[in-house]
Amino acid sequence: MNLSTPIQYVKGIGPKTAERFHRLDVETVGDLLCLYPRDYVDYSHPSTVATAPFEGNCVVRAEIYSKQGETRVKGGKKMTKVMAGDSSAMLELIWFNNPYIAEKLVVGQEYLFFGKAGGNLDKRVMIAPVMHPLTGAPPITPIYPQTEGINSTFIGRCVSMILSELEEEIPEPLPLEMLQRYRLLSKKTSVHAIHFPASLEQAMAARRRLIFEELLVLQLGLLLLRSRDKQTTAPVMKPIDPTPFFDSLPFRPTNAQQRACEEILQDLTQKTPMNRLLQGDVGSGKTLVAAAAVYVAFQNGFQSVLMAPTEILARQHASTLEKMLSPFGVQTALLTGGMRVAAKRETLAAIAEGNAHLIVGTHAVLSDGVQFSNLGVAITDEQHRFGVQQRQTLARKGQTPHILVMSATPIPRTLALLMYGDLDISILDELPPGRTPVKTLAITSKKRGDMFQFLEEQIETGRQVYLVCPLIEESERTSAEMKSVKSYLEDVVRPLLSNYRIGLMHGKLKPKEKEAVMQEFKEGLLDVLVSTTVIEVGVDVPNATVMVIENAERYGLSALHQLRGRVGRGGGESWCILVSDHTGDAVQQRLRFLCSTTDGFEIARYDLENRGPGDFFGKRQHGLPALKLADLMTDTRALKAAQKDALEIFSNDPRLDNYPVLADEVQQLFEQNTSMN
Ligand code: ADP
Ligand code: MG
Repeated sequence: MNLSTPIQYVKGIGPKTAERFHRLDVETVGDLLCLYPRDYVDYSHPSTVATAPFEGNCVVRAEIYSKQGETRVKGGKKMTKVMAGDSSAMLELIWFNNPYIAEKLVVGQEYLFFGKAGGNLDKRVMIAPVMHPLTGAPPITPIYPQTEGINSTFIGRCVSMILSELEEEIPEPLPLEMLQRYRLLSKKTSVHAIHFPASLEQAMAARRRLIFEELLVLQLGLLLLRSRDKQTTAPVMKPIDPTPFFDSLPFRPTNAQQRACEEILQDLTQKTPMNRLLQGDVGSGKTLVAAAAVYVAFQNGFQSVLMAPTEILARQHASTLEKMLSPFGVQTALLTGGMRVAAKRETLAAIAEGNAHLIVGTHAVLSDGVQFSNLGVAITDEQHRFGVQQRQTLARKGQTPHILVMSATPIPRTLALLMYGDLDISILDELPPGRTPVKTLAITSKKRGDMFQFLEEQIETGRQVYLVCPLIEESERTSAEMKSVKSYLEDVVRPLLSNYRIGLMHGKLKPKEKEAVMQEFKEGLLDVLVSTTVIEVGVDVPNATVMVIENAERYGLSALHQLRGRVGRGGGESWCILVSDHTGDAVQQRLRFLCSTTDGFEIARYDLENRGPGDFFGKRQHGLPALKLADLMTDTRALKAAQKDALEIFSNDPRLDNYPVLADEVQQLFEQNTSMN
């Protein structure tokens, strides 16, 4: 056995269990050592029975007083009860269908019990706690991420066995000098200690060391990619004056839009590929800037591609851009999943022959069947980064276009630079004139009646409203999502707005159906759109003036702000109503904050400081490889140090010849993640 041995050859792990390990991304013995505990049970500081917290799990030390034997309870289960306690309180221990633990317990002896301590102040109760004898228990036990059929104890046993055999073979990627300078544990020690620490302090020290290494590898990988980027040559374009394009628009570009355009057009004339992030709050007019880039590429004889996160958005972009650019002869092609075979074949041919100048679609536009004739500019909308893999895909097709990433979620500049190194940033810090800020209010469901009254008034004046229905947990997605949006429509919305035309939109609809619903809403044939978050980004219906978001507590502020950005686009007075019955302080504070500002930058900053659920770094939106331990938001100091060291290593030894182990890790990190995005 060595570190690259497939997991199924480990003693005790057969093909079936190996299959389950694969679900945790564990393929080899080495991978298993990198499956780090998500938490620990600390048996070294047990609570007394009385002081055991009611919330969460804890370890309690108690003496066995008496065993009460087995009784049969409802459902045919056998219940075993044991009375225990200490000088502070009584503790009742209960197991179901598990007489074995009780058999092992000896009356008059003390044990440690781990689990949730419920009951009341007179008598605490633990149901099915984990038991350890007072002596011989490891002081700290790891808790691993679980998957069906593998429990934490089993994982711990496997790791322990592997470590006892292979610990000495774990190579050290970091130079000794670096370990000393930052007082880091050796790799061997930290791998052992993160699984089986002698104390929580040691676990922290191990984490610190592994986080540093992870960030160093990440930074080295980014430097490597970037240097490859620099060696590639993008199409060099001649400078083109965008004035004719600007003059053709029904409005004047804002100063911010003009500035961003200048920056981009300058980049396009260089042979180093552009790598630019265009940040602008919802409604700041990023599409126009993208159109200017397409215009210039077209005048230079190059194609452009624009990728959107959803089909709805792709369609909307295609139609907006076509309107703006067709007067100049730009042929726009929309490429979607649901296309008929013949139409698709035709479109692909037009792209390959260079007759389509702007190709718009979802990520599918990078799929194998698509061959560009001469791609000059690649743009993504509402995505934090043009992913490593997308770049590689294009390179395999022989294309090294200039890259523009558009995002409505402002990342503070310092953070963006830390994360992406020398990515350039253009900022649209100015909204087009004539916008009235959206009024935002937070209510509880008690006020739902009043709210629907208000919606009715709005609809009566000819306006349209969005109702975003309760979000479904990630794990219950798909059919549950559909069920919940449907029952929300039938049980809540329809009875209250029975006289109006209501549309329904959710992720399970076919693209054609989604398109049809959206189109009806756009054309004013629907008064109300009940939807899941598929409308989240970019959809533009100026006549819609109210956005209602149910279960608002389930979203991060940035997501709420995005949803709010769907209204307030037509110059009329607009409202965003956040419905939540959540009474937690943090939630209330978050929602109040959103009510108090419409400044996307402020909101992003708040999100960064008080991370809420589903916030924008939570879902790998940044396009970086997934990290196991490090957190780009909170490990800033380590990130800075790692970045500095990576630069130093890289400038002296760009091929990492003297750092073979690091070089391997860099390769692994970026390879493993080629399936991302
Ligand atoms: P976002 O940055 O959110 O993608 P869009 O590009 O969708 O914003 O623009 C939002 C709306 O503002 C669109 O209806 C667009 O036509 C309009 N718009 C863009 N630029 C200007 C401008 N300079 N003056 C007036 N309206 C503009
Ligand atoms: Mg947009």
